[in-house]
Amino acid sequence: MPQEDPNLAAESERFEELQRLQDRNAELEIVFDTIRDLISTLSVHEVMERLLNRTLVHLDSEIGSILVVEPDNSMRILLAKGLPDDVVRNTRVEMGEGISGYVAQRVESLLVEDVESDSRFQRRNRERYYTNSCVSVPLCFQGSVRGVINVNNKRSHQGFTSEDLKLLEALAGHAAVALANAHRYEQVLVRAQRDALTGLSNHGHFWSSLNIELSRAVRYSHTFSVVMIDVDHFKAYNDRYGHLCGDDVLRGVAKIISDRCRACDHAARYGGEEFCVLLPETPRGGAFAFAEKIRQAVEANQCHPGDRDPVTVSVGVATHPADGSTSANLVKAADTQLYRAKQEGRNRVCGPGTVG
Ligand code: GH3
Ligand code: MG
Ligand code: MG
Repeated sequence: MPQEDPNLAAESERFEELQRLQDRNAELEIVFDTIRDLISTLSVHEVMERLLNRTLVHLDSEIGSILVVEPDNSMRILLAKGLPDDVVRNTRVEMGEGISGYVAQRVESLLVEDVESDSRFQRRNRERYYTNSCVSVPLCFQGSVRGVINVNNKRSHQGFTSEDLKLLEALAGHAAVALANAHRYEQVLVRAQRDALTGLSNHGHFWSSLNIELSRAVRYSHTFSVVMIDVDHFKAYNDRYGHLCGDDVLRGVAKIISDRCRACDHAARYGGEEFCVLLPETPRGGAFAFAEKIRQAVEANQCHPGDRDPVTVSVGVATHPADGSTSANLVKAADTQLYRAKQEGRNRVCGPGTVG
């Protein structure tokens, strides 16, 4: 029997060690590179999208998805690559159901070697998956499971390995930090743009939307309107019923306004008891109809108990470009019309076309 050369054995061991170190190094580079990419954005959606794209590249796979946990504890697909649109739109997964539900419920990563023979799932592999193997890892941040990332179809047509799973766990683990930061930032941003009493946009956010809408309208030669609403004799209401009841009225008026807004309209609390609404693509007639609906709803006592003094609003309307070519001129024009409505007896809508 030939003797093994001890030098050769040591050399081979060193070579294997070097190979391991090189693999580890490559993995660390992938992880660091991904972290850098993920923390450079403050949008939750963008972090998830970058995570999914990078995961598919590094796991050399074709199909991947991120499911998010909804308030009712079910999950829906937020992002997907390689899945048909209707599957993405219509998929709902209950906690504990299927592979994603299993991973989310147990907060446990999973490498499934063969979905058809795994007694936990026992499902027939679907045609779009050309391997029976997949990896799935929970996405956790701020102390709870927020979703699951799934990867299928390795381009090599081989099954996933425990190395693949470890890499995905590392990427998802670091993504958690980026997700938590982005989530906090988005919450702060929403709070900074909202009026705390009514939940509508605040003055500053209204002006940025108005400026954006103006440049869009100028660029495409479109029209839009601005509606300014002021509660009549509100000081007297506060004096009579107290400021807390006054606050209820402001919330009620805000609700009447937002219930009548389309998705693209932008309602804001402009100041004390004044509201402003931006109505994109709306000419004078449409803006008047909108304003009149609000005036009538407030008059019909929809924003406070019926046994109190009636609440009414006065409204001024201005339309771009006829009544002003800048944001400031339009707001000024709406304000002038509101002043006219007050002068003419309140509880009415006025615009440049209305006769007093
Ligand atoms: P007009 O019909 O001319 O608009 O009379 P008005 O009394 O509504 O107008 P005025 O500007 O004299 O008074 C506005 C009142 O709105 C005074 C202020 O106390 C009240 N107000 C402003 N902000 C708030 C708020 O957040 N909550 C409450 N309850 N009242 C507010
Ligand atoms: Mg006022
Ligand atoms: Mg007022």
